[in-house]
Amino acid sequence: MSTFKELGLNQDLLAAITDLGFETPSDVQAKAIPILLEKDTDLVALAQTGTGKTAAFGFPMLQKINIDSRTTQGLILSPTRELCLQITNELKLYGKYCKGLNVTAIYGGASITDQARSVKRGAQIIVATPGRMKDMISRNMVDISKIEFSVLDEADEMLNMGFYEDITDILSHTPKDKNTWLFSATMPKEVSNIAKKFMHSPIEITVGNKNESTNQVSHEYYLVNARDRYQALKRLSDANPDIFSVIFCRTKRDTQKVAENLIEDGYSAGALHGDLSQNQRDLVMKSFRNKQIQMLVATDVAARGIDVDDITHVINYQLPDEIETYTHRSGRTGRAGKTGVSMVIVSKSEVRKIKSIERIIKKEFEKKEIPDGMEICEVQLMSLANKIHNTEINHEIDKYLDSINTLFSDTDKDELIKKFFSVEFTRFFNYYQKSKDLNVSDSSRGSERDSGRDYGGSQNETRYFINVGRKDGYDWMKLKDFLKEVLELGRDDVFKVDVKDSFSFFNTEKEIQEKVLAFFTDFKHEGRFVNVEVSEDKGGRSRGGRRDGGKRRRNDSKPRGERRSSGRRSDSGSGNRSDRRSSGRRSDSGSGNRSDRRSSGGDSRSPRRTESSSVSDRPRRSRRRD
Ligand code: ADP
Ligand code: MG
Repeated sequence: MSTFKELGLNQDLLAAITDLGFETPSDVQAKAIPILLEKDTDLVALAQTGTGKTAAFGFPMLQKINIDSRTTQGLILSPTRELCLQITNELKLYGKYCKGLNVTAIYGGASITDQARSVKRGAQIIVATPGRMKDMISRNMVDISKIEFSVLDEADEMLNMGFYEDITDILSHTPKDKNTWLFSATMPKEVSNIAKKFMHSPIEITVGNKNESTNQVSHEYYLVNARDRYQALKRLSDANPDIFSVIFCRTKRDTQKVAENLIEDGYSAGALHGDLSQNQRDLVMKSFRNKQIQMLVATDVAARGIDVDDITHVINYQLPDEIETYTHRSGRTGRAGKTGVSMVIVSKSEVRKIKSIERIIKKEFEKKEIPDGMEICEVQLMSLANKIHNTEINHEIDKYLDSINTLFSDTDKDELIKKFFSVEFTRFFNYYQKSKDLNVSDSSRGSERDSGRDYGGSQNETRYFINVGRKDGYDWMKLKDFLKEVLELGRDDVFKVDVKDSFSFFNTEKEIQEKVLAFFTDFKHEGRFVNVEVSEDKGGRSRGGRRDGGKRRRNDSKPRGERRSSGRRSDSGSGNRSDRRSSGRRSDSGSGNRSDRRSSGGDSRSPRRTESSSVSDRPRRSRRRD
């Protein structure tokens, strides 16, 4: 593997790279940088999101421009304001030792005169969104007649967003003999057209397979009636207590509506779409980054700039119009070496689109079932139990222990535990006990994936709880492989594997239940006991199973307060980053900055529950009882 030095970068850039902590070049960097440094050529580079494309064009551009001159030499076009700012910040970091470097961001929603002034000060590089750039050209506020390098970043997305005309117009103001470098995650017709039209025999590089999505992401779909979409969304969220997700809707209106409903129902959600003011969008993004919002509901366009690394789930509330867009959506999760899940809620009429997406991403979807109410109750209960188990004791409590003990002097341990957990469990139970099965059978696909198991009823299956989860590095495939291996089972013997943060569920045929339980008595893996128990719920109910006897609830309404706004994931820290964040957050909430949280998309009316952080949010909970 090559080093940055071997790629030919100069000392100033190498020093910045050391500061940034980049150790080795990513694939796209290793391929693009030497070409761009050595040749004056056009380039088309195809690489997924998160592969380091900014540095792949940024380093060569920084090395090739003349910093002593104040002429604008490089122009980078990018689809959204967020990306524009992100690229600008990255370039400034990369060029921190390039004395005299001036990179200016140009985008809508901010003062055009300020931006023009910054350009006039001598910006060697401009990073711009097409709309604002065109505007500034027409007002003679920028001069791009001498640029030597132009970059079309996220070209597929810019074209998706209808920037073709703007791009054409902008490029017509640039010299013919400049070099154009086009970066894109996918290569739809429109992108190859633009390459043909504006580029001269570009060198093509591809990282990974064309249009292939990353391996870190597993893809799942859930088949429901269109009218149950929203209930399905809530269940998926409730079944994943530690979810930190982006939920994609097709239109701004749906985005706003879904977010409003979630907030109304007590979830920590926020909306991100183009009808919000820049200020509102900034606020929502800030809350999301700080994890004060657990579910960010967004349009494709608005979500394009989201560069948050530890998103656990992407939920496609509706499929995008252009199925290519799915790649961008699912690319929001599974970043920075983490695993992620991309879920699609589909109705029968859309289910065929799943096949087309599979062809594009070259990966198979797993058909999964919307969990039923009791499964959710169990997940929530076990999640809480795990969090309590892992909670550090706060010895401030010691001085109250006597009084508490007196109160419970007649209560034995089992009873106490039951009471304690009932506080949380009963709310979920009351909400979900009469909930209906949301799943719709899929005659065209189900059998091929599930070996007909879902139709056979669950009497012959056993569902197990196992105390390992995502935190231990498992996703459903890895856990399935692990179980098959240690239990010496065949390909389809372990199914309905559902991995949560610190525990998971799986099913086997009932026949082998004894074998499974016997095997896991005293089983240690990597130095810790792996505990397997029979779970009450069957997981992915049989289709003929639970119904609510015709007494459908009109809207399966609110399990009020099953979300809290922050303090989540304190035990999910798969990396230092989330540890750091959560500790920062804890001190925030300690200062009682509630109005801040409310404005972040929360709803003061909804008495948010907390999971392990029942601890940190206790003041609010007791308020609610008062
Ligand atoms: P893309 O444009 O392909 O989506 P980015 O350029 O935004 O990807 O990079 C994604 C993240 O990876 C950024 O946080 C960036 O700082 C980081 N990164 C880029 N190159 C490297 C590298 N060689 N080593 C480690 N991290 C890197
Ligand atoms: Mg990028």
